[in-house]
Amino acid sequence: MPSYKAPARETRFILNEVLKLESYGNLPGFENAGPDIVDAVIEEAGKFIAEVIAPLNLSGDQEGCTRNADGSVTAPKGFKQAYEAFRESGWGTLSHPEAFGGQGMPHVLGFVVEEFLCAANQSFAMYSGLTNGAVSAIIAKGSPEQQQMYLPKMISGEWTGTMNLTEPHCGTDLGMIRTKAVPQADGSYAITGTKIFISAGEHDLTSNIIHLVLAKTPDAPDSTKGISLFIVPKFVLDAQGNPGERNAVSCGAIEHKMGIHGNATCVLNYDGATGWLVGDENKGLAAMFIMMNAARLGVGIQGLAQAEVAYQNGVLYAGDRRQGRALTGPADPTEKADHLFVHPDVRRMLMDAKAFTEAMRALALWGGLLVDLSHKAATEEERALADATISLLTPVIKGYGTDKGFETAVNMQQIWGGHGYIAENGMEQFVRDARITQIYEGANGVQAMDLVGRKLALNGGAAIQAFFATVDKECGDAKGGAKGEERLADLASRLEKANGELKAATMWFVQNGMANPNNVGAGAYHYMDMMGVISLGLMWLRMGQAAIAALAAGTTETAFYEAKLVTAQYFGERFTPDVGALRRKIEAGSATMMALPIEAFATV
Ligand SMILES: Cc1cc2nc3c(=O)[nH]c(=O)nc-3n(C[C@H](O)[C@H](O)[C@H](O)COP(=O)(O)OP(=O)(O)OC[C@H]3O[C@@H](n4cnc5c(N)ncnc54)[C@H](O)[C@@H]3O)c2cc1C
Repeated sequence: MPSYKAPARETRFILNEVLKLESYGNLPGFENAGPDIVDAVIEEAGKFIAEVIAPLNLSGDQEGCTRNADGSVTAPKGFKQAYEAFRESGWGTLSHPEAFGGQGMPHVLGFVVEEFLCAANQSFAMYSGLTNGAVSAIIAKGSPEQQQMYLPKMISGEWTGTMNLTEPHCGTDLGMIRTKAVPQADGSYAITGTKIFISAGEHDLTSNIIHLVLAKTPDAPDSTKGISLFIVPKFVLDAQGNPGERNAVSCGAIEHKMGIHGNATCVLNYDGATGWLVGDENKGLAAMFIMMNAARLGVGIQGLAQAEVAYQNGVLYAGDRRQGRALTGPADPTEKADHLFVHPDVRRMLMDAKAFTEAMRALALWGGLLVDLSHKAATEEERALADATISLLTPVIKGYGTDKGFETAVNMQQIWGGHGYIAENGMEQFVRDARITQIYEGANGVQAMDLVGRKLALNGGAAIQAFFATVDKECGDAKGGAKGEERLADLASRLEKANGELKAATMWFVQNGMANPNNVGAGAYHYMDMMGVISLGLMWLRMGQAAIAALAAGTTETAFYEAKLVTAQYFGERFTPDVGALRRKIEAGSATMMALPIEAFATV
């Protein structure tokens, strides 16, 4: 059975030494986020999640969810008790507003707990994860009455929430939604239609489920401009605000799928179910985007989390399994064979995984901090910059983070050889669970289009220009020559060059995208990958700077900080060279890609 421990030291390093959370102590919510509290959250949440949630990962995968004859759904054995313990622990309420029963702590701490939960058990984490998305939409767009009715119990975990976008004929193209919402005399709406693939759509963990549903009113435009958002509770609330009459929403089936077996992926049938409009009619997509942006960052964290747990188990196996001899001669002459660790090709996979997961954690947590700063920073200018930066980075965190997360899970499975393919060892589950992260919340190709088609043009290109400037400045600083900084000079030079390639690719889109939009579509994915590498490179510069500072201050944890500098160097050598090749792919344009007629793809 695979194991999981929360990466406490790594997380403390990022929060305290790289992001320096303490320096934001003047902002609301941060006053209680000093190193002691941060340490307590990391240690206690990490311990609880590793001890209570992680042991249910493999069994939940093997058992899956069960749809009973009456349409109810039972989560795998142990999930209900673990959910109750999770609820009582209060870890789910950490960064929700105090006004609705949350603890009002920074989002960045909520992201920490989210990573631990997803690494321990992604299926389990999704029951509360989807609720968080629904909560953010109600906070942003719900009426004060709706907020009072639903938020306290959703935040406390007494009820869960879902997101209902997808229908059988439409996933990416939500303008085609057919679910209807007919206004009723009492101000409610009758919702009718079929939603598919609804995560945590039905289960036995809580006494109510609050569905957030996209639908169209009868006279609405038949496009994205005609979508509205509705709250449809499984049980309509009675006068006291408790679950009352059963609403006309039922689970028609649960999907049998590749991974995340412990989370019920449901077909939900709405047969004139009672729903209430959230925000204005025809403005549902904007409200849903609030939920989706939060959820997209959450999915990026899932990618990191699967990489982390797979990496932990890859490291354990490489240190345990003995096969062959080191190329340079026996490393362990008293044994019949050396550990897998001696083989450079195994090291390649482990170093790739280490270089990715550590920087991805830094990027995701910086993302969490930017979410906080976009609301709470002292000046309007700082809030706007934080908002623009996280908008730009969201598709990168989701798209690049999950692609590399999956790749890392596959590589760690590879280290286990044939044993990685055997179910009871758990490595193949990480691969299967990681795979969905590349698909849901907008498939990664759609993330790439969001980045290039929408985010680059944000505020006249101000966000990407600010990103270029940040990378250039921090590369310049790292090459600046203060004591110890020569250790980062090579990475800084490579990253500066990569940033130049990214600027050139951006310019190429400007020059070639208008004439032929296919040129943008053909290069968008490569551009997302370029930004992924450069964003992680920036994180390695920051982590490297923090390591140099700690070493200069005479830390006793020399090995920890030296490893940071070696891994930063590795990232520069092994990740940044891809950026030039990606730029050349972009500049090849779309002509050849789009040249063949559809019939030419047929092989039979
Ligand atoms: C396990 C699971 C859980 C899910 N949970 C939920 C949930 O809780 N709520 C919910 O509403 N949905 C959920 N989904 C649905 C998921 O979000 C969609 O499957 C996903 O958004 C893609 O939509 P689709 O499957 O219809 O694919 P399509 O939209 O048909 O896309 C197919 C392919 O074409 C590409 N493509 C489509 N349009 C474009 C374009 N314009 N430009 C470039 N490429 C394009 C896509 O990238 C993709 O690779 C879930 C799905 C699964 C499998």
